[in-house]
Amino acid sequence: MNMRLTSKKIEQILITILGEEGLPLVKELMFKDNTSEFDLATKTRKDIKVIRKWLYILYNHNLVSFTRKKDKIKGWYIYYWTLVPESVKFSYFKMKRDLLEKLKLQIDEEKRELFFACSQRCLRMNFDNAMDFEFRCPECGELVNQDNSEEIIKDTHKQIVELEQELKELREVKKEKRQKLKEKKKVRKVEKRKKIKEKKVKEKKEARSVKNRVKKVLSEILKKKISKRKEFKSKKKKK
Ligand SMILES: [Zn+2]
Repeated sequence: MNMRLTSKKIEQILITILGEEGLPLVKELMFKDNTSEFDLATKTRKDIKVIRKWLYILYNHNLVSFTRKKDKIKGWYIYYWTLVPESVKFSYFKMKRDLLEKLKLQIDEEKRELFFACSQRCLRMNFDNAMDFEFRCPECGELVNQDNSEEIIKDTHKQIVELEQELKELREVKKEKRQKLKEKKKVRKVEKRKKIKEKKVKEKKEARSVKNRVKKVLSEILKKKISKRKEFKSKKKKK
């Protein structure tokens, strides 16, 4: 499959949808187009029903396309599946963009609210939740203390910076691609115009040559006629 996303990234997005279990199918789809669902089942050593379920999930996300052919002997249709690179790319981009939004909300919340946890850190609660549980951990019953947000904020911030950088790069790749496509179109347009012009010149040339030929033939006919008339006149004189 020809795309700029690395196979790691493709895996990441497809596994987000199918779960780790789907990895063998993802790997098969990534390196070969138009694979029949039976081949996919054989190669992944999974039940055909499982494979079909996963393929339909991916299909519902527009991440795969299929063609089908009728089996002449058995009379049923066999489906052949292919990843759709553009959709995979778009999904990846969207996943990262959503994650970025989520992290930004998270960091806001961390800055705005107080959080509480027990010494085991069974779970983290905001002030309202901690109050509902009378400042006791609902898991272990221990009294909870205010939990430091600094580490989490620092960590989240780092993730946000990395994500923003990645999204920026993806946007640049997209932009570059669009630019290239635009230039290609322009070149094609110029070439087309050039071809039309050449065709016209050729047609004119041909028309001229036909005209010349006709002229030549006509002049020869004329010459013959004149010479015949001369002959006739001289014969008449002799008489
Ligand atoms: Zn606890």
